[in-house]
Amino acid sequence: MKNPFETEERRAFRETVRRFVAAEVTPYATEWDEAGEVPWSLHQKIGALGAWGFGVSEKYGGLGFNDCFMRSAFSEEFAKCGAGGIGAAVGGRSISIGPIEKFASDEIKDRILPDIVAGRKGSSLAITEPSGGSDVANMQTTAKRDGNHWVINGSKTFITGGMKSSYFVVGARTGDKGLKGISLFFVEADAPGFSRTVLDRKMGWWASDTATLHFDDVRVPAENMLGEENRGFLSIMNNFNYERMGMVASMLGMMKLCLEYSVAYAQQRETFGKKLIEHQVIRHKIADMSARIDQIETYINWICWMTNEGEMPVAEVSKAKFSASKALEFCASEAMQIIGGAAYLRGNPVERIYREVKVNAIGGGSEEIMRDLAVRQMGL
Ligand SMILES: Cc1cc2nc3c(=O)[nH]c(=O)nc-3n(C[C@H](O)[C@H](O)[C@H](O)COP(=O)(O)OP(=O)(O)OC[C@H]3O[C@@H](n4cnc5c(N)ncnc54)[C@H](O)[C@@H]3O)c2cc1C
Repeated sequence: MKNPFETEERRAFRETVRRFVAAEVTPYATEWDEAGEVPWSLHQKIGALGAWGFGVSEKYGGLGFNDCFMRSAFSEEFAKCGAGGIGAAVGGRSISIGPIEKFASDEIKDRILPDIVAGRKGSSLAITEPSGGSDVANMQTTAKRDGNHWVINGSKTFITGGMKSSYFVVGARTGDKGLKGISLFFVEADAPGFSRTVLDRKMGWWASDTATLHFDDVRVPAENMLGEENRGFLSIMNNFNYERMGMVASMLGMMKLCLEYSVAYAQQRETFGKKLIEHQVIRHKIADMSARIDQIETYINWICWMTNEGEMPVAEVSKAKFSASKALEFCASEAMQIIGGAAYLRGNPVERIYREVKVNAIGGGSEEIMRDLAVRQMGL
């Protein structure tokens, strides 16, 4: 689809990512996903592409500018490797970079941000708790002030990159009940009292590690509070939008892969004396998948245009997120039907994408929570 927002710079960036993924990621996608990890050198290669530098000052190795179109192009093209777990393994850090860059002290940023942006070290955002992820306002982990320190107690779960990250942005309750009693903290993995256990045997995203984090009297200096006390949630609202947009764009990439794979298969497979692609039922499936892809792509362009104009289109991002996971669910299912038994075998990207639909429908704000948020934005 022709993109009216394309510029030479955006086209070149997308092309660079596309070529990188085709040469350096896709050929190894099945191997890494089955192995449950990616080589650390991949983090550094992606860092060199500038993927984590959006909105980060050049002083810390960032790009010194932000562009929603380029960010989305990265997520979309990367997803075309066909293994969402690889994107999560390396890109898990992206949702913690914003709060660190925006709120951490200069001392912390000088010391750690260049390593995160370049892919030498990992970082994670830790919000979800064993008692629940949707009801953030009910967060149970606490941070109590003790002289020049905060003492953190509690646990976080489902943390992407949690086993390997060196740094964490952690939400904890510092005040009263509700969203206005939550603050954010910068915590290092070697802090006494911090430990982690792996969450294994996931349905998908095998290449990425997922952890439960335990905080047992973890003391952090007072300057490790990120942003204002009790305003932690409010200060990362925009961060959630970027996280969700990254997921929407990545779902678009997966939808395109489903279409591409099923068309290629239908063009060569014969049933009942003719090519599969010549059967009208199959052609209709392709039309329906293609229409959903166009809808999500158009939505992304519109949201990126608004975001670049300085708006924070919360309602549109929420609607795009649940529309995209529903569209991906449809495309993955139809692609499986077109390919048939061959798509049921491990190693086929369509099989993997079909299993990864649900993490997109649940993680980063579930479909239900996204709908709630969208309706609230309508003033209802
Ligand atoms: C692979 C993976 C990686 C993740 N990575 C991270 C990460 O890096 N950092 C992090 O902080 N979190 C992460 N998460 C957690 C994710 O954000 C949560 O799973 C998600 O927010 C939902 O929380 P929950 O699973 O606790 O479900 P719950 O909040 O317990 O909800 C259960 C179900 O009920 C629905 N529900 C809840 N409330 C309502 C309501 N009011 N009305 C209708 N339906 C409702 C939800 O939509 C959900 O489907 C990850 C999750 C997964 C699966």
